[in-house]
Amino acid sequence: MSAANPGSKPSLALNAALKSTASPEILARKTVWIFDLDNTLYPAECNLFAQVDQRMGEFIAKQLGVPFDYARHLQKSYYRQFGTTLAGLMRVHKMSPEPFLDYVHDIDVSVVPDAPELRAAIDRLPGRKLIFTNGSRAHAERVAGKLGVLDLFEGISDIASCGYEPKPSAAAFDSMIKHHGVPSNDAAMFEDMPQNLEVPHKLGMATVLVHSTYMDHPIQRDMRNWSALPEHVHHLTNDLTAFLKVIDVNGSPGDPGTGN
Ligand SMILES: [Mg+2]
Repeated sequence: MSAANPGSKPSLALNAALKSTASPEILARKTVWIFDLDNTLYPAECNLFAQVDQRMGEFIAKQLGVPFDYARHLQKSYYRQFGTTLAGLMRVHKMSPEPFLDYVHDIDVSVVPDAPELRAAIDRLPGRKLIFTNGSRAHAERVAGKLGVLDLFEGISDIASCGYEPKPSAAAFDSMIKHHGVPSNDAAMFEDMPQNLEVPHKLGMATVLVHSTYMDHPIQRDMRNWSALPEHVHHLTNDLTAFLKVIDVNGSPGDPGTGN
């Protein structure tokens, strides 16, 4: 029957005994497909987010007039405490978000690969597709455009449209759901950050953790100690395209573990 990690490749970072907790036929019947952007739709290995990460530190150092190393310390502290670096800068330093977002997303997206197989895999899914990102709409459009998938998405829920309230907060999901009219029980959420799947799980969405090699947050590093998937992570994959390709889009009981 179903494999533990549909479409996955061996991972040194995760315990090989991890099992999927949701049945594939439940995922097959979903009608709204919601994708995180950074390190989910594109592979972390292209190091695009490393550019964003570096520029966040630069921005803080310039704006606050502090050494880069201290700026990096603040950046990571705010990330852990507030969910995103930007949320911390807005609450603690009363910064306006737009200059920050413009600066950190001024990056070289040529490192993002063209992704025709990912495009085909998303395109075959029945129903609506959305991008839900803690970044800006402009960033999502540039990156999804480089991947070659942008036109497949009905909409983008970005940090501004969520009132600068980031995932993993329930308020961010509430904004996205209301704005796009998402029926939670019929939706599936794909994410590289496990904590961003807790709220969608509670709301009745199917959840898929796209395991990323970019492990910047303590919660991601804790994944190495998982002996089983937590309740809020229904599926796990190292390869989003392979995972999507084997979902039975006809809604009959299928086995996404056998198609790879
Ligand atoms: Mg992400």
